Amino acid sequence: MSRTGPLLSARGVGVRYDDNPILSDVDVDIRGGELVVLVGPNGAGKSTLLGVLAGDIEPTVGGVSLDDKPLPAYAARELARQRGVQLQKQGLAFGFRVREVVQMGRSPWHRTAREDDDERVVSESMQRADVVEFAARLYPTLSGGEQARTSFARLLAQETPVLMLDEPTAALDIRHQESLLAVARSAAQAGAAVVVVLHDLSLAAAYADRIVMLAHGRVCANGVPRDVLTSELLTEVYEHPVEVIDHAGALLVVPVRTRAVESHAGEEVRCATPWPHA
Ligand code: ADP
Ligand code: MG
Repeated sequence: MSRTGPLLSARGVGVRYDDNPILSDVDVDIRGGELVVLVGPNGAGKSTLLGVLAGDIEPTVGGVSLDDKPLPAYAARELARQRGVQLQKQGLAFGFRVREVVQMGRSPWHRTAREDDDERVVSESMQRADVVEFAARLYPTLSGGEQARTSFARLLAQETPVLMLDEPTAALDIRHQESLLAVARSAAQAGAAVVVVLHDLSLAAAYADRIVMLAHGRVCANGVPRDVLTSELLTEVYEHPVEVIDHAGALLVVPVRTRAVESHAGEEVRCATPWPHA
């Protein structure tokens, strides 16, 4: 399959709840092969836009097409084979073990030829999300970060050409933040259209092909990280002074802080507990 147009295309999208505009005049395109990061302050409309792009929220005006077909024309199962969503707020999945949660990602492929791949795909997805060691654990007993990684494994197991993730790194440690985004990027390199909501702007700079910035329900910037992540724009949009530092080719986005952090120069801080992997 070769296509030149975007895989996902939102045109003139507006959402209103009780007459409050939540999204207005949103036009966004996402192509196969690109990782687009959605950023913006709390309440800017990121999760709402992701819901609209996923077909889970019906816009008040405008619409979204996926592979040139309007989302409302998709049957639920057909849509589930095209796009997977990792939500910001996860259900608790009471009584389910981690491997079972990941297996749920395969449900759109039940009774198709691809069902034969289920076990292999579930195992590979668990490895890529680093949840193999929790396979037999009950999902609600996991930590927040472990639950997020399990949700990511389920998303990977769904094997869709469009992946949407809402703040997937919010509860993750540094290693797992980096590995999740590296896996998301490799999915894009393999042709998927990937949309990720992130708050960490340095992380966005490192992994995004393109950044779409929302403020007050509108797209206020859409471009490569270097064009969007400027001190002027971020300071205005986040209503807090922000500095952007170019460090060895990487953009670091740092809030300006008024109180200097106390210096601990000279003290050597070491981990006192025995290292379990040694
Ligand atoms: P973000 O993800 O950028 O933090 P959201 O898209 O979740 O923002 O929400 C945008 C705004 O819309 C917020 O002010 C939120 O309170 C409001 N909102 C979201 N969903 C609803 C809803 N179902 N009913 C009323 N207001 C909502
Ligand atoms: Mg949100």
